[in-house]
Amino acid sequence: QRQLVWFRTDLRSEDNTALYHAAERGPVIAVATCTPRQWQAHGHGPNKLDFWQRGVVALSEKLDALAMPLKIISADDFDALPDKLLELAEQLDCRALHFNDEYGLNECRRDSAVAKRFHDAGHEVHRYTDQIAFAPGELLTGSGNYYSVFTPFYKSWLKNIDAARLNQLSAPKRQQAPAEVTRDHVPQFTRRKVTIDANDWPAGEEAAQQRLAQFLQKRAARYDEERNFPACDSTSGLSAWLALGMISWRQCVNAAASRNGERLGDGDANLTGWISELVWREFYQHVLVGFPRVNRHEPFQEQTRAMAWRDSDDDFNRWCRGETGYPLVDAAMRQLTATGWMHNRLRMVTAMFLSKHLLIDWRRGEAFFLEQLVDGELGANNGGWQWAASTGTDASPYFRIFNPTTQSQRFDPEGTFIARYLPGFEKLESSSRHDPDAESRRRLDYPQPMVDHRAARQRALEAFKSLG
Ligand code: FAD
Repeated sequence: QRQLVWFRTDLRSEDNTALYHAAERGPVIAVATCTPRQWQAHGHGPNKLDFWQRGVVALSEKLDALAMPLKIISADDFDALPDKLLELAEQLDCRALHFNDEYGLNECRRDSAVAKRFHDAGHEVHRYTDQIAFAPGELLTGSGNYYSVFTPFYKSWLKNIDAARLNQLSAPKRQQAPAEVTRDHVPQFTRRKVTIDANDWPAGEEAAQQRLAQFLQKRAARYDEERNFPACDSTSGLSAWLALGMISWRQCVNAAASRNGERLGDGDANLTGWISELVWREFYQHVLVGFPRVNRHEPFQEQTRAMAWRDSDDDFNRWCRGETGYPLVDAAMRQLTATGWMHNRLRMVTAMFLSKHLLIDWRRGEAFFLEQLVDGELGANNGGWQWAASTGTDASPYFRIFNPTTQSQRFDPEGTFIARYLPGFEKLESSSRHDPDAESRRRLDYPQPMVDHRAARQRALEAFKSLG
């Protein structure tokens, strides 16, 4: 019996749960769906869509070598998919559909609708937990609720993880080519201008494995010490590949654990620290399901709904362009728009600057990040923004407001990162790059700080206090 495997954000042939199990049952035909209007409604920017498209092309080539043709369904949005997928399955004589679950609200609805359509037509549907270790609902607090704080979630994850969940699956063997089925051309996913260089973002599982190996060989040993220092480039840089499933969390966790005597939560702090970041990724997937309001642009902390965010397009645009007059914030924003990626420490600093210093609605920043990022992903992006704005799960208390200048002195002490993105700053003494004097700013045509830190901090504190 032919099996239809629907690929979404799991663009790999190795260690792919749905693909592996489908291939055990019978010959596989693969399908990917292209839904540009839906993706636009979700806010995905052209950089991510370009990387995604190239990932599907790379997957199609991989599957071709296994004689598993990849078909493409194009539709405006998710609503069209139940009918179109069923039509394809029937045309190709596939009696069963397999896919790995996704956790955004619209994706869950889409999948339920597709599963229902297939069941109603008498077809089998096989769904798998693959993107994360535990399906949402499998890890709950003592009182049976979803976790809203990371540390207890992480402890529970470590306590319950077992060999079966960590078990990596191989790619299926080459099959006999299904007669009269050929692979489809993969169309462009976006017509908007892509700003990243494809050479910096090679799509596919081989590129991801190379990055993982390089990280573990060269940089992981310094991760704990350097992960907060953007100039060090010490993190894995794997987020975009993880977001589209070109590499699995199991491949990452197992590779790190094998360098740590097979331990996950104790031993080398570099490796355990890195593994815990992968658990953050999973935490936010559970949050999407446990607290659906965060999918609907609503704050997790309901009392912050009434927050009087400032409505200033000028201030917002200055932040977007990296012209706030705070060098670390500006260098970070220029890293984002120039490369499609931003270091985690800087995502926190810039998000806090927008939501606290400028008191601008975090949702505007969330959308701008998603528009620019190659690794843009609802769970982590929304989680990170709501954390910074003190509206979310595990929120930083509202009175913790990073001082962008001291963050700069602490995490970019020589101003090396700043000088990479702000023209002329390389000529300044390291110590003055964090806050150049008025004369240097004039000379470099660099703006004065757009807000005074202390006054802006006070304004934010009052706004939060007034929420009661
Ligand atoms: P590493 O340090 O090597 O970490 C390994 C992996 O763990 C990452 O690739 C990522 O998958 C995961 N991870 C690390 N930190 C986090 C975290 N805080 N939350 C969730 N997962 C994490 N990450 C995204 O993948 N997509 C986003 O859209 C995104 N938006 C963010 C927005 C804000 C405001 C903030 C504060 C954080 C955001 N993050 C996002 C989390 C984090 O900044 C990135 O995952 C990280 O910078 C990616 O770099 P890396 O792959 O080198 O990370």
